Amino acid sequence: MERNDKPRQPGGQQEVLALVRDVKDYTEYLMNCGFRDVVCPQAPQEDVGPKLPWKNLAEVERDAKGCAKCRLSLSRTQVVFGVGNPHAQLMFVGEAPGRDEDLQGEPFVGRAGQLLTRIIEAIGLRREEVYITNIIKSRPPGNRSPRPDEIAACAPYLEAQIALIRPRVICALGNVAAQALLNTDEKISALRGRFHSYRGILVMPTYHPAYLLRNPNEKRAVWEDMKLVQELLRQAQSSGDAPVPSDLSRA
Ligand code: SF4
Repeated sequence: MERNDKPRQPGGQQEVLALVRDVKDYTEYLMNCGFRDVVCPQAPQEDVGPKLPWKNLAEVERDAKGCAKCRLSLSRTQVVFGVGNPHAQLMFVGEAPGRDEDLQGEPFVGRAGQLLTRIIEAIGLRREEVYITNIIKSRPPGNRSPRPDEIAACAPYLEAQIALIRPRVICALGNVAAQALLNTDEKISALRGRFHSYRGILVMPTYHPAYLLRNPNEKRAVWEDMKLVQELLRQAQSSGDAPVPSDLSRA
């Protein structure tokens, strides 16, 4: 007899065993989706950060646009704060503005930006439906990597963006974004492919679109990551409040 053919006796041992099997099956399903832990959606969520000195995104942007907290203020054309839906379920965080972004004042507008737009559309969303920003808001000269003191100086703006938007998922694009958000020095190749947690919000690290332009073979890996994100958002939409999986080891 198949295991599900046995009639369940209310409150009996069979019913308990059936419930345990159901939970085990669902847990295996989530693990196959790349989740590592599952926490109850009713459980209190972690704080997304310290008390903010800003009430809304407009106030954060106003202060960031006049910011001179690090040396990058001397060489930038303008601050590139972020664009998109202030109530986005999905937020993309890249590394830093490049030349095109510095000139236009919008993140991800060059060739890498066009690729990011196609990635967003591939999971059934429009660019205007998500929120896009970077770890740091001013362009490093010559497109060098941001330095640790610059990342630290700029962190309050990103923390505020995340706390005010409160997305369901953050997609960290590339080494710099993933390492800064997850406070780790693990490489993106080791981090990608599974969910992590930033102050109770799920983080999916994946390759930066600029890296994909140089290494198109890695598009498959990004697509696998984005399918996990898409599935999570789909579950959230269909159930109203899907189970919240997180890698608590990275909280
Ligand atoms: S990178 Fe951030 S901290 Fe540095 S000047 Fe620009 S906005 Fe300010």
